Amino acid sequence: MTSYVFITGGVVSSLGKGITSACLGAILEARGLTISMIKLDPYINVDPGTMSPFQHGEVFVTHDGTETDLDLGHYERFVRTAKGGRHSNYTTGRIYESVIAKERRGDYLGATVQVIPHITDEIKQGVKKGAGDADICLVEIGGTVGDIESLPFLEAIRQMGIELGHDRVVYVHLTLVPYIPTSSEIKTKPTQHSVKELRSIGIQPDILVCRSEKPLPDDERKKIALFTNVQEKAVISAWDADDLYKIPAMMHDQGLDGIVTRQLGLDLPKADLHEWDAIVEAKQNPSAEVNVAMVGKYMDLKDSYISLVEALQHGGIHTRTRVKIHYIESKDIEEQGIDCLKEMNGIVVPGGFGDRGIEGKIDTVRFARENGIPYLGICLGLQVAVIEAARNLAGLDGAMSTEFDKKTPHPVVALITEWQDQTGDTEERSEESDMGGTMRLGAQSVALQQGTLAATSYGSTEIEERHRHRYEVNNNYRDRLSEAGLVFSGLSVDDLVEMVELPGHPFFLASQFHPEFTSNPRDGHPLFTSFIAAAREHNAGELPEAAEA
Ligand code: GLN
Repeated sequence: MTSYVFITGGVVSSLGKGITSACLGAILEARGLTISMIKLDPYINVDPGTMSPFQHGEVFVTHDGTETDLDLGHYERFVRTAKGGRHSNYTTGRIYESVIAKERRGDYLGATVQVIPHITDEIKQGVKKGAGDADICLVEIGGTVGDIESLPFLEAIRQMGIELGHDRVVYVHLTLVPYIPTSSEIKTKPTQHSVKELRSIGIQPDILVCRSEKPLPDDERKKIALFTNVQEKAVISAWDADDLYKIPAMMHDQGLDGIVTRQLGLDLPKADLHEWDAIVEAKQNPSAEVNVAMVGKYMDLKDSYISLVEALQHGGIHTRTRVKIHYIESKDIEEQGIDCLKEMNGIVVPGGFGDRGIEGKIDTVRFARENGIPYLGICLGLQVAVIEAARNLAGLDGAMSTEFDKKTPHPVVALITEWQDQTGDTEERSEESDMGGTMRLGAQSVALQQGTLAATSYGSTEIEERHRHRYEVNNNYRDRLSEAGLVFSGLSVDDLVEMVELPGHPFFLASQFHPEFTSNPRDGHPLFTSFIAAAREHNAGELPEAAEA
């Protein structure tokens, strides 16, 4: 029987509710529990797939190909048993879409369809599906208490508390405890008000997690407990950590996992956090440093590549390397030249959509190839590597992806429908289809060619990785590109290009899939580990030495 922990947020947004939820999941899992994790998002978009990464950060893709909120990425990185999927992320839009579809079908038998009970029932059903058969399901409610949009979600979780009882439901509320420098004071009032707001809609939090710059002094902890009707020991301090991976221990040291498991009546072994301790230790004691450039767009919004940034850091953890990431707008390379890449030990071109800065990315690939700088291309980063090889190795002038130039003389990357005439294959995906409906999404298996850099990095010739893209390498150009030296080291079961590499180069590897979605700090990811090891080697005087974190 699954128990639930609901996590709400108050005072302001961006307090790190996703990370807090993920860390709580990690310390509960460390006590031997299986955990599922759900995010409820109050916005009207049916899923975040069509939202600009500028506004909403990265779109995280789950194993089953669901486009979800980036918090699902935190959950999977921190909790091994939490495997996200179709039922792990609900938005207001998706809930309403489903209720309206039912209403149109006549499922409500003529009833007046209302927020309570129809919308709230739909939310509760969704949560139960997402919970699966885990011991504990953690449900994070997006937004801030007091927002109009989140009310139906809060009402649904209030009802679940009544229906399941206090020994199966725990409410955690995350707030901000600001420090006012002019009066040198810590202020608990916003927390008091936020809890008041939550109680006014019928939810009494069991645990408060108070975000603050410094650890919360005892006096403030007492005061918050008194005013919010929360036990003093259940007022947890979450101060700004210099390293994300210190947070599980920070929470465990204050007894957070014990408070939850006691309320749920679970008698469990002590939390085993040795893997998290090892990560912190590895991060604090690197034996080398590398400079890695990430060349793309939206570089001023780091959240748009959060999984990739994390995966590079995981590569650092597993090779004991400090990874310094330099975010470079590809447009700047077009306008100011390539000099900014000269000091780099590794270059990454991440996934992306739209033509802004595309020539800058192609120039970046050329620079990495000609100067022997380790190159890792991801999704669009593979496509630009193919375009660059077509232009400069195979002599196919004007080669391009049809995403950026419909009239290119050499569509080396194109929609399958654009190259099917010559192969005779049928392909139902097309540009006219619904947005979000045309993508190759989710995990698919990839066959790696024995002896290639891809296969040696993975230590296997059969892998499974997640996808999120529309365009493919045009198979009609494969022979010409192979003759020019490009090796197609990974192929899908339906013979689409999944990985390319350049033998003779210290490390030149690109994937059509997104390996960053399956990287986590404890296990690392073979591609990122070998890329960072290559960057170390590039860094003069340093020998790569893979260390187990
Ligand atoms: N824009 C490219 C495509 O749709 C690449 C997508 C990506 O990098 N995720 O195929």
